[in-house]
Amino acid sequence: MAMPLSSATAVEITTQGRAQLTLLPAANEYQLPDGNKPLSQTRYRLLTKLQTSLDLNTILSLFHEESSALVDYCGLVYVNETMNLQLSVGDVELHSCSYRLITQRDNLGEIVLYHQARFSEPDLDTIETLLSTLLCPLRNALQYRAAIDASTTDALTGAGNRLAMMADLDHELNLARRYQHDLSVLVIDIDRFKKINDTEGHATGDTVLKEMVRLITKVNRNTDRVYRYGGEEFVVLLSKTDKYGALVIAERLREAVAGLRVCADTGSLSITISIGASTFTDSDTTEGLLKRADKAMYEIKNKGGNGSAFKPGDQGNV
Ligand code: GH3
Ligand code: MG
Ligand code: MG
Repeated sequence: MAMPLSSATAVEITTQGRAQLTLLPAANEYQLPDGNKPLSQTRYRLLTKLQTSLDLNTILSLFHEESSALVDYCGLVYVNETMNLQLSVGDVELHSCSYRLITQRDNLGEIVLYHQARFSEPDLDTIETLLSTLLCPLRNALQYRAAIDASTTDALTGAGNRLAMMADLDHELNLARRYQHDLSVLVIDIDRFKKINDTEGHATGDTVLKEMVRLITKVNRNTDRVYRYGGEEFVVLLSKTDKYGALVIAERLREAVAGLRVCADTGSLSITISIGASTFTDSDTTEGLLKRADKAMYEIKNKGGNGSAFKPGDQGNV
């Protein structure tokens, strides 16, 4: 089924399309004009390769590797808006053809192939055939990714969960140690959150948690990640950030949250947070780093909350 997406050549690949492809001529009848290997053989080899991985990047790289040997094009971009994904392989050029990838049950996103010159009709035919081979492996890779995302994400707020936090912190600590990068963490706790639950109800408490994560994510740099550490406690991981940077970010977050207003039955609610910061030292473990930030946070909490503090490690200033 052909359905233009834009002025570029566009074809919607559907399962009907796949069914039609099973009616391809026998391999020896389907030689490409330039004497390349039969398309059906390439499709078979492509499928065999694509079935070796569930990783989306690998699947797209394999597809590009095999397809670009058969069709003259220089790069591709895959976009899946629902899953907030945009991945590219190779180079982006002036000419493109776009395909919406759809099976009977799923919308798998859109793929755009790029070339320095216009795509020829035979090339477009070949691309469409190859794309139909990509559909099932792509769907499997997306399902795998969704499952991995679900296992590392806090379902209520969308922040990373504790499992993801420990894994990422471990990874970042190793990088910081190897490359002598700075690395800081913030431990954030909402002040008197229980009172919100008690007076406004649990559902409003949930909304406060969601709104706060949304705001923190918005205020943060793209590289800073937010995790739900416990009930109303969160951790922000600040790569390549020293003590001073961490305190600046902590204050920025504190101010942003203090300005947040959440609608509740009794009117609009405001919240405050207490933030503790710590910066990695050579002798640190993930637990040690978190513990210091936690202590700094409790120092603020004991002074009434709505503030930020830093707790140095063994080596004095950090
Ligand atoms: P402090 O100022 O000392 O931090 O006090 P607090 O009330 O914020 O902290 P406390 O530890 O006393 O209470 C935390 C509350 O958070 C208790 C718990 O019921 C609530 N909570 C934990 N997880 C959730 C959740 O997912 N949703 C909601 N609505 N409440 C939660
Ligand atoms: Mg708490
Ligand atoms: Mg609290």
